[in-house]
Amino acid sequence: MWLALLATLTALPPARDAGPPPRGLACLPTWYAGEVTHRPDGGWGFVVDGGAFVPWRAAGTDGAAGEEAVDLESIYRVPYVPGPIVTLDASDAGDIEDPGRVRIEQLFLTTYGQSRDEVFDHLAKVRFFGLRYPFHELAAEPLRRVVTRLEAALEEDPKLRPFLTNIGGTFIWRKIARSKNLSTHAFGIAIDLNVERAHYWRWQRRGEPLKWQNRVPQAIVDAFEAEGFIWGGRWVHYDTMHFEYRPELLSEACRETTGPRGGRDAGVNQAR
Ligand SMILES: [Zn+2]
Repeated sequence: MWLALLATLTALPPARDAGPPPRGLACLPTWYAGEVTHRPDGGWGFVVDGGAFVPWRAAGTDGAAGEEAVDLESIYRVPYVPGPIVTLDASDAGDIEDPGRVRIEQLFLTTYGQSRDEVFDHLAKVRFFGLRYPFHELAAEPLRRVVTRLEAALEEDPKLRPFLTNIGGTFIWRKIARSKNLSTHAFGIAIDLNVERAHYWRWQRRGEPLKWQNRVPQAIVDAFEAEGFIWGGRWVHYDTMHFEYRPELLSEACRETTGPRGGRDAGVNQAR
């Protein structure tokens, strides 16, 4: 009977005064396992499979840049702007955040797998310019569509080929260098292109100011971004070989069109 009551309670629509959920939250179930919910005490949030509640906006943060913010809104705080490659000025990198670098690990764990073995069981193989690479089955089709786009781009410009062969790899169960967080490679949703043609901020000499560098051509970046992959070349802490499947950051459906963030988002749309 308690279960029945619980089911009734969770099935109730959100309180009327809550209004519609933020678009960046409402779009998440398209790609991540769980559902949008509203709680009288916690506000809007996402209940991941398994029952944990991840708030849209953690109490007290008010969307501001907090230390270690774990709310979903922080995913979008630094907008990811696709399109023409921009030379980044890293001279004051302390103040600049990298779009997409905020990752809510809970979403990945619940969607792609809680352990190395669980992710491993859900890997597909994707042919990428001669070799087959493991990639999470939920991101394999998007990667195949990237390959189709890249094949067309390669027809136009054979000089793209060296970037797409001898690639660095895809799935590997590991943490981000010098971090406690799992890399998106651990979930099988990231791919590193040819390391020989890449630049990575950690390869700079220690103590030297960050100097953004890149050789990856626009056509390659375009092919990935068109299918929901973000590029590490958009980061002041650049990693130009790295692409990861983060469709929420590139989808129009997740973007606020009204409200307090409308002004900035309108600017982003214009810049695209
Ligand atoms: Zn990578």
